[in-house]
Amino acid sequence: MSTLDSARRAASELLRQETSEDLPEWRAAYDDEAPESGSGVPNAITPVCSDEDHEPSDGGVYACCPEPVIPVPPPLVDYLVALLNADRNDGVR
Ligand SMILES: [Zn+2]
Repeated sequence: MSTLDSARRAASELLRQETSEDLPEWRAAYDDEAPESGSGVPNAITPVCSDEDHEPSDGGVYACCPEPVIPVPPPLVDYLVALLNADRNDGVR
């Protein structure tokens, strides 16, 4: 198994423990409590919210949103979301 494969597996196992769902779809988010909040760029990642009143284009985090909200340095947000969603679609076990 490659280093990347083992890292993916370890991350998937952690995220399964953190989420009630089996590997959720992730999105970029604005977390008011994370470092670099108010900078106008996403500073966290969180599972996609399924609440019908939560517009998908709204990156905010509200009471309707699922846990966890993971603070991430802004330059890594889009990359991590893309990676995690790619792993999800590849069915990492
Ligand atoms: Zn929500």
